[in-house]
Amino acid sequence: MDAKWFIDASYFIVAVLFILGLKAMSSPVTAKKGIQWAGVAMVAATLVTFFSPGMHNFGWMIAAIVIGGGVAWWAGKVVKMTDMPQMVAIYNGMGGGAAAGIAALEFARGHVHGVTATTLAVLGALIGSVAFSGSCIAFAKLQGIMQKAHRLPAQNAVNVVLALAAVALGLAIIMEPTGGKLIAFFLLSLALGVILTNPIGGADMPVVISLLNAFTGLAVGFEGYVLGNPALIIAGIVVGASGTLLTQLMAKAMNRPIANVIFTPITGEAQAGGAIEGTMKEVSALDAAAMMRYAQRVFIIPGYGMAVAQAQHKVWEMTELLEEAGVEVKFAIHPVAGRMPGHMNVLLAEAGVPYDKIFDLEEINAEFPQADVALVIGANDVVNPVARTDKGSPIYGMPILDADRAQNCICIKRGRGAGYSGIENALFYSENTRMLYGSAQKAINEVIQHIKALNG
Ligand code: NDP
Repeated sequence: MDAKWFIDASYFIVAVLFILGLKAMSSPVTAKKGIQWAGVAMVAATLVTFFSPGMHNFGWMIAAIVIGGGVAWWAGKVVKMTDMPQMVAIYNGMGGGAAAGIAALEFARGHVHGVTATTLAVLGALIGSVAFSGSCIAFAKLQGIMQKAHRLPAQNAVNVVLALAAVALGLAIIMEPTGGKLIAFFLLSLALGVILTNPIGGADMPVVISLLNAFTGLAVGFEGYVLGNPALIIAGIVVGASGTLLTQLMAKAMNRPIANVIFTPITGEAQAGGAIEGTMKEVSALDAAAMMRYAQRVFIIPGYGMAVAQAQHKVWEMTELLEEAGVEVKFAIHPVAGRMPGHMNVLLAEAGVPYDKIFDLEEINAEFPQADVALVIGANDVVNPVARTDKGSPIYGMPILDADRAQNCICIKRGRGAGYSGIENALFYSENTRMLYGSAQKAINEVIQHIKALNG
């Protein structure tokens, strides 16, 4: 069989598997299968590449695969679920860095010819470098190595000047690439990623990670063209397109135009315009258990704290006990609850919560006034009513789950800790809210014991 025909046919099958895998990932029911298909496609694409004409340096390729694959295997095993967003950020950065590295190498070897290839190589290098350094900053912020947000004086002007300088250098390279121009271009592009991502913190981080992911996809697609590799082009375009769609969906969910995320990020340093009135009122585990056990409808709102405490199994145990007592229980999920898209859905699925009990924000929000109890478990920003009421708040306009509109609200958290955005939460001070202090797993466990006693 002709080698080229075999490689092209294999890449075609790989592309189909990528797309089918991605489609399957859009539902929690089929997501695991989707990951497996995409994984098989990735392995196949890598193996087939070994047979590409002109391929050499097999020792280096195998060493890279063993080291990279080994690190990824180890990291996948040891990284905690709550640290997954950092891992996604750094892997995404590696993709962008690899794309930029391909461009650098192809320029250095003098392999880039023609206006189209040079333009795409430059674009891929710019976008890939921004994705690489930006993702490294996002990783450092999520990991707590860097402070969440730091704005330079005249930040937007600095962003624009750097971006224009990088584009101008890129044009100069397209006209005539030289070593000096290329080094300056890569350094500037890397600096641009740092400068753009550094001031972003607060509740904007999910949108930024998703945007950088789309950048990586585009960069990989462009460099795929430079290398003449169809699998890279298709994989890059699929990642770029899905990342762009996810970015748009998340920006919409946060009610934040993408330009605002980059140019006027929520830093968390600004505080809500009006002072929050009222005091936080504590409730005991026994009273919380009784309030829910004798309610008709309980809505559960999980957040980052449930993930940290790994309380999802206890939460499901409590739900089953409440249902035994005739209580209707529903889960309300905010699109950016936790630290990655779909974080809560993954945890609840892991605990065995049936999908038909899990509702998105727009499906359930109108029902909150009919809920006797809204139980907020380690969530904060996603239930902060100042987003609805306080025009002076930096999160004004972000859709929230309307826990404050339930008849009663119980919030489980350890103390007075702020959410990711660093903004004070008016819900905790509201008249119908009671605070159940403690780490989520321990607090829910105590509630379970009391519900069991009440169930008899
Ligand atoms: P938040 O980060 O707003 O709040 C989490 C709360 O959990 C804290 O107030 C903390 O209070 C409490 N908590 C922490 N540990 C525990 C524990 N062991 N037991 C009980 N409670 C605990 O979480 P949300 O889910 O409400 O909001 C997510 C935020 O993260 C949003 O701002 C979102 O923009 C951002 N983000 C989301 C990403 C995504 O893709 N989903 C990615 C990156 C950021 P205390 O310390 O008092 O216990």
